[in-house]
Amino acid sequence: MRYVSTRGLAPELGFADVLLTGLADDGGLYVPTSWPQLATFGPADDYAAVAAAVMLPYVGDDVPKEAFEMMCREAYATFGHPAVTPLVQIGPNEWVLELFHGPTLAFKDVALQLVGRLFDYVLAERGQRVTIVGATSGDTGSAAIDAVKHCDNVDIVILYPNGRTSDVQRRQMTTVDSPNVHAIAVDGTFDDCQDLVKAMFADQAFRLQYQLSAVNSINWARIVAQVVYYVWAARSLGNQPVSFSVPTGNFGNVLAGWIARRSGAPIESLVIGSNTNDILTRFVETRAMVNDGVTPTLSPSMDIAVSSNFERLLFEMNGRDGGMTAEQLNRFRAVGRLDVENDLFDEWIAPVFKAARFDDSQTLATIADVYRRTGMLTEPHTAVGIAAARSKGDPGVPIVTLATAHPAKFPDAVQRATGIRPPLPPHLADLFERHERTSLLANDLGAVQAFVASVSRVAVRR
Ligand SMILES: *Cc1c(COP(=O)(O)O)cnc(C)c1O
Repeated sequence: MRYVSTRGLAPELGFADVLLTGLADDGGLYVPTSWPQLATFGPADDYAAVAAAVMLPYVGDDVPKEAFEMMCREAYATFGHPAVTPLVQIGPNEWVLELFHGPTLAFKDVALQLVGRLFDYVLAERGQRVTIVGATSGDTGSAAIDAVKHCDNVDIVILYPNGRTSDVQRRQMTTVDSPNVHAIAVDGTFDDCQDLVKAMFADQAFRLQYQLSAVNSINWARIVAQVVYYVWAARSLGNQPVSFSVPTGNFGNVLAGWIARRSGAPIESLVIGSNTNDILTRFVETRAMVNDGVTPTLSPSMDIAVSSNFERLLFEMNGRDGGMTAEQLNRFRAVGRLDVENDLFDEWIAPVFKAARFDDSQTLATIADVYRRTGMLTEPHTAVGIAAARSKGDPGVPIVTLATAHPAKFPDAVQRATGIRPPLPPHLADLFERHERTSLLANDLGAVQAFVASVSRVAVRR
């Protein structure tokens, strides 16, 4: 499989190069040159087997089939549930797909446990090393660290805003005892952390010297790994038409659902659940993408102003015209608004996507209601998804909400809504006794670059 950039100017690449590159060098995102139809798999195939079958057409010849199947086995063996992502019924036509049984308790493990193994494999084959740098408000950093903590060819530096992540999230990053893992508390906000990372990537000499790499949510390999659980859930429900409700900010998770549908999975609707940061819901309602800034909510992993993965769908809507896509996105960056023409909206958005927004009090009310009716504890992101499913699901069509985090990852909100503080699962029960290792740095590019230079083993090899 070959990949092209949504902005039309970067070189065409294969899967392994797309994996290591992340962002295309024209500023665009990589997408496959075609959408292969779903492979067939047997009724006895488990999650890892389905994952390999769904993803292999996208991997192509870049990783041998047996090696890729082995990586899928290993990645999903780290999950604490035999079904990997179990489907749980919570109402007559209402289901929850639990994507949070991975090592760090958020759905990001589903993609990143595999991506870490892919990095290690490709880098070992090529005799290369990289330095992964990233910014996190909580979930991405811990999932990325856990995914690469055993990778010989990767050093990882994660910047988080000092004092602004939850204790669970911080400890998941700072208690990992691996020499290649470095969590840095930056004296600033999440946006400051992100700006520091962007500045490091923009410094071409620095980027090359330390072979900087990224595993943020625009990395194609993460998207394709998320396609799998849509296919898995649809099969578990007998491959009848089914809708999904997805708590999303960046459009990443719901884009994976669109790809599953495009590839032949029997998906009726994709319902977008937004918190108060509702750029996607406003888009579905008004046909215009408008940047309205960010306000903090109880579902912080969806607190974003701009949904970067929408660019991949926009490229499709534009008939794969990279020049046109680049022009629209440049204008969006300049004026904060992007209008989609009526005929394109009616062809691509209206038949598939629905959306609804819920504020914090509605989120808490949903957590309380689900608990009262089913005894199940849910956390705020998942609750936004369940609320969206209930308000926008199609009558008579089963709907599956993606449960993106374990309730113990957001215990304060769960306790507020239900009076119950969810305990951490056994593998993390001693998290608060573990030794923390972190460095506090000023919000200063020079200081952060000096730190990266001091821990990266890329230069040493040269
Ligand atoms: C990252 C995250 C989301 C949002 O994912 P998108 O990439 O915006 O689709 C939702 N819930 C949780 C718990 C997350 O960690």
